Amino acid sequence: MRKIIKNAMLINGIKRNIVIKDHKIIEITARNPVGENIISLPDGVYVSPGWIDIHTHSFPKYEPYCSYPDEIGYKTGVTTVVDAGSSGANDIDEFYRIAKKSITRVLAFLNISSVGLKISNELADLSFISFAEIEKAFAKYPNMIVGLKARMSASVIGMNGIEPLKFGKQIGRKLYKPLMVHIGSAPPKLTDILPYLEQGDIVTHCFNEKKSNHIFSEQSEINRKLIDAIHRGVYLDIGHGTSSFSYHIAKRAKEEKIPFHSISTDIYEKNQLHGPVYDMGTTLSKFLALGYSLEKIIQSVTEMPAKMINKQGIGKLEKGALADLTFFTIEKEQMILDDSFGHELTIQKRIKPCAVMIGGNYYECR
Ligand code: ZN
Ligand code: ZN
Repeated sequence: MRKIIKNAMLINGIKRNIVIKDHKIIEITARNPVGENIISLPDGVYVSPGWIDIHTHSFPKYEPYCSYPDEIGYKTGVTTVVDAGSSGANDIDEFYRIAKKSITRVLAFLNISSVGLKISNELADLSFISFAEIEKAFAKYPNMIVGLKARMSASVIGMNGIEPLKFGKQIGRKLYKPLMVHIGSAPPKLTDILPYLEQGDIVTHCFNEKKSNHIFSEQSEINRKLIDAIHRGVYLDIGHGTSSFSYHIAKRAKEEKIPFHSISTDIYEKNQLHGPVYDMGTTLSKFLALGYSLEKIIQSVTEMPAKMINKQGIGKLEKGALADLTFFTIEKEQMILDDSFGHELTIQKRIKPCAVMIGGNYYECR
């Protein structure tokens, strides 16, 4: 059956009607198509491709980095959540079962450590990294697992230095999959991590302000290595999180024209409930207040992440794409929002999702 969304305001302000059939967008038109199943949007409601959050914790099993996919997914305007290494090979069957029961689309970067986030130093023991187990997981869930995750910071790697990263890269290369690397407190230093990363790999927590290991802490050397990495095709992902996003770093990056490619939340139960993350809409509102255009912001949560995880059919509003959409408004509302380092930012406008469509099915947000 055809569904028609009327009075949809696109990001550029132009209004269109969107026709959906068999889970897909079949037409985006200025004409007035007739049909029975009509969703007529009130004025002021934007429609974008469904939001894709490529750094979440969408696996409820292990505290503290846990949540149910739908709680951080469609209920908050996000149509696709990508788990960032909560699960390793040991738990991937259970992860899949929960993902399958969810309304939200659920994908995963598989933790290179078999134990995932069952423990918080999952890369301190190299025997937890098994190529055979990882290969098996990719073979079993080829559509769900989009890449690998390695958390390369001091509390995770123990005495192993850069070794886990080397393993992660070797495995990623063999399987032709991107590696998402979490950066944080040294060791290892950012200058030691960056040279290993190749086209398609992702640095998450790119604008963190962790002591002497952020993108501006060793000016010239990091700057050169970072720019080289970006030129090679390495992506920078925000990964806001409880302790990984700084307005100071973000502002300076904007001044110095250091780009980011995707906006993600690094959300889980606790930072959703108590902040500073809350949800994707709040995270996007921060970027609006930092002076980024709505076009850039929406692209960073739709088209770019879809490209980074190599998923066709999502992230774009076009004929033939899956009917994954996010409906949202921009409300005038002054409020003060914290980053992860206690800095405050006054925002004047809020991006507020009201509903989503996933594969042509309509759901209201919380
Ligand atoms: Zn992280
Ligand atoms: Zn995370």
